[in-house]
Amino acid sequence: MRLIKSFQRSMFLLFTIAVIALGYGFYLAISHIVVEQSRIHHQSVAPVFSLINEELMYPLHVSQTLAHSKELKALMNAGTIDQAAIAAFLADLEKHLDLSFFAASEKALRQYNSDGSSFELTPGKVEWYFNLRTSPGDFFAQLGQREDVHLFLDLKVYNDDEVFLGFVGIGKSLRQFWQKFKEHKQVFGYDLMFVNNKGEILLSSDEDLMASSNRLVSLQELSWYGQVAKQLARGESLNSSLIVIDNEEFLLSEIYIDLLDWKLYLLSPLKSRKADITRTFIINASVVFVLIVLLFILGHFLIRYFARHFLQTLHQDALTGLANRSLIEQSYEKIIQAGDALSVILIDIDHFKSINDNFGHNAGDQVIKQVSDLLKQSIREHDVVGRWGGEEFILLLPGANLPLAQAVAERVRILLATLKIDHVEQQLSVTASFGVTYSELDVELKKVVAVADKALYQAKAQGRNKVCSLLNLH
Ligand code: GH3
Ligand code: MG
Ligand code: MG
Repeated sequence: MRLIKSFQRSMFLLFTIAVIALGYGFYLAISHIVVEQSRIHHQSVAPVFSLINEELMYPLHVSQTLAHSKELKALMNAGTIDQAAIAAFLADLEKHLDLSFFAASEKALRQYNSDGSSFELTPGKVEWYFNLRTSPGDFFAQLGQREDVHLFLDLKVYNDDEVFLGFVGIGKSLRQFWQKFKEHKQVFGYDLMFVNNKGEILLSSDEDLMASSNRLVSLQELSWYGQVAKQLARGESLNSSLIVIDNEEFLLSEIYIDLLDWKLYLLSPLKSRKADITRTFIINASVVFVLIVLLFILGHFLIRYFARHFLQTLHQDALTGLANRSLIEQSYEKIIQAGDALSVILIDIDHFKSINDNFGHNAGDQVIKQVSDLLKQSIREHDVVGRWGGEEFILLLPGANLPLAQAVAERVRILLATLKIDHVEQQLSVTASFGVTYSELDVELKKVVAVADKALYQAKAQGRNKVCSLLNLH
């Protein structure tokens, strides 16, 4: 019972460890995947902010500062425009800030560029000027210059009396942008596109999508537009949407650029992300698998250990550790199957009841244990000793004939009779009677024992502490 309980406890412990290990394994796997996901996302989005900052925000802030420059305002507000002074002012800015500047004067109706060139602002020819001049708002970002398309950041300039003096700003070639975006794509592996509030693509890492002098590509023209059309129609962000282009999956990230009212879309191919995540998953799954295998091996050994001990206790007499009846029967079958003749000795302690009566049940147990130890020590290795019943023992002596078995019984009888058993402060001694028989035939143990029992009965009848024998006559 104790063994079963400890088996149950061990299995419960093993099961608990397995559940904890599995749970922990899954937790680790999931958190690693989440970390990996976030790392990749972070890795892909973080550099784009410095790109936006460098390529768009910096020029924008420079032009905003320029629109409030006292020196420029004074130059543009003068009665007669000093062309040379404006040109020198802009050239100096270009030299120091490495950007192309312009100033378009309302008074002179002329545009001055930092490269030293200038041209007249004629209605019908320089449309942007006359369009923007009357448009509400002070800041515009738009494309222009047919031959080599530029992104222009145009800011209105006013004098202290809020009189419109013209525009200042920065022009940046789209090729320059594209060059930067292409380099960015090579390093970080994703495409990007800047889209204005009309859904037109202005800047992109894909040369074919870049705005050109004769057309702007709109989002609707893209092959994957249909996959996000509903979301766009509902005004939802496309952030984290999955799109498929040419059977390849891409994850979309959307960044809104408030100042320009533009949206930046990043398209990262999932293939490389999947590879990273799959690697993390495989590592974690392997750890969990190894854990399970280890637990399985542990469980296997536990079951084997308990099975062995359980079987042992099934066949063992609890008090003496001797073979019980079932094991004696099995051993007998084995001897018979091997074709061996054998002798059987049945031993019964004399007047055992009086030991129990006089010294108590514990003393009786003690006597049984000591007798069984003596029996164990006094037989050969291949002989079998077992507890047949209360104070009855049995010896199976394979290959021993009757005289040999009688001699063994006699030797054991004498040893037993001289045995001193310590009990509390006194020494007990016992004798036993022996019934010996010999069997050559393939008969049941029960029948052989019945003959030995008859011999034992005779020994008792003859005054006990005796060895009697009978041949197996069955
Ligand atoms: P005999 O010489 O005729 O064999 O007399 P006996 O007293 O030995 O015979 P009997 O069969 O009358 O008594 C055997 C007693 O052994 C009865 C039972 O209470 C006791 N006994 C049986 N198994 C155990 C045991 O495991 N422990 C103890 N202490 N006593 C036991
Ligand atoms: Mg008895
Ligand atoms: Mg007895």
